[in-house]
Amino acid sequence: MPSDAAALPRELAELATELDAGDPLAAYRDEFILPAGVIAYLDGNSLGRPLKATRERLAHLVEHEWGERLIRAWDEAWMDRPLALGDQLGRAVLGAAAGQVMIGDSTTVMLYKLTRAALEARPGRAEIIADTENFPTDRYILDAVARESGRVIRWIEPDPASGVRLAEVEALLSERTALVLLSHVAYKSAYIADLPGITRAAHESGALVLWDLCHAAGAVDVALDAGDVDLAAGCSYKFLNGGPGAPAFGYVAARLQGELTQPISGWMGHADPFAMGPGYVPAAGMRRFISGTPPILGMAPVQDMVRLIEKAGLPAIRAKSVALTEYAIRVADEALAPLGVTVASPRDPAVRGGHVTLDHPRMKEAVAELWRRGVIPDFRPPRGLRAGLSPLSTSFAELATALAHLRQVLTADL
Ligand SMILES: *Cc1c(COP(=O)(O)O)cnc(C)c1O
Repeated sequence: MPSDAAALPRELAELATELDAGDPLAAYRDEFILPAGVIAYLDGNSLGRPLKATRERLAHLVEHEWGERLIRAWDEAWMDRPLALGDQLGRAVLGAAAGQVMIGDSTTVMLYKLTRAALEARPGRAEIIADTENFPTDRYILDAVARESGRVIRWIEPDPASGVRLAEVEALLSERTALVLLSHVAYKSAYIADLPGITRAAHESGALVLWDLCHAAGAVDVALDAGDVDLAAGCSYKFLNGGPGAPAFGYVAARLQGELTQPISGWMGHADPFAMGPGYVPAAGMRRFISGTPPILGMAPVQDMVRLIEKAGLPAIRAKSVALTEYAIRVADEALAPLGVTVASPRDPAVRGGHVTLDHPRMKEAVAELWRRGVIPDFRPPRGLRAGLSPLSTSFAELATALAHLRQVLTADL
């Protein structure tokens, strides 16, 4: 879209062209459905674009797996799918060995299940550590769980432009702490929390840690096993392109599975579901964290994206993600700062995830105008444009086009 990108200083427009030409992952963009009416999409961290392969997978699922195999498919493939796909996701995205990840529920429900399970494993410890900048559902669920389990939440109020720091967690940790719940990548600022450091500190106090990976999975290196993480959960419709309402994933370290029981004790997490027995006996291993019938249709698109991520390799994906966010910040500094735009994400790429938030007093109106033009970023109140840069589907030219439109819109009288 050279005519749009021309609204940027020439040097920045040319840089985007050069970066695309040198991008080893550039060809992956063709794997996605790219309708002409969308001029630029910067919301891959809210709802990733669909893959072309998903169209075929869904048709095949309806025609053959479901249409022809019918109920036999439960035995042939579907019963194992939440754990088999969990293993693939663990390997390609989460740094988790097999047998520790399952797919199911929404992230909200998964957070509930895992927080309840963790608190029951730490009786006699009255406190939960969390932060006020975390995503609303995390805070709401934690409030409810604290109320029903008689716990107190110790809230950290982090700097909104960065995120929760190790020292802030250490200041609240004690022998009273049962659980620490934090996001690995902050949904507003994109700050990457010190996952191994905070996990280690929590363990030294005897507490468990639950990491929310919604904005991390598929964009940054997540090393759950290496970080000795206890519990994790996340969405599969953001950087994992699973589509609207795609199910969540949950991780429980193998060493903890036997001592944790989750509160939604449904038949699919039973040791022998088809015995239809009188009482609940949890299955061994990760299956006990499943509650009801697995969402087979919802998992299908995730299978395609996990496969693509594994092919591209997470280190290459992270490298492109850093290059995209670096480019966005450079354009913000050189071409948008004179219009009053400020960068509300960390400048150090080592602690910045896959999106960049740009603030402006009139950003709400600007984003509305961008949407009218077919340029789709996210707006986060009170004044943030959140550019979610999904590395496999976003080109530098697409990003340049979006930022050029933003410059035009902010230059015009809003
Ligand atoms: C997107 C997001 C959620 C969403 O939860 P759902 O149950 O899928 O709606 C939860 N937590 C964080 C940190 C998120 O970014």
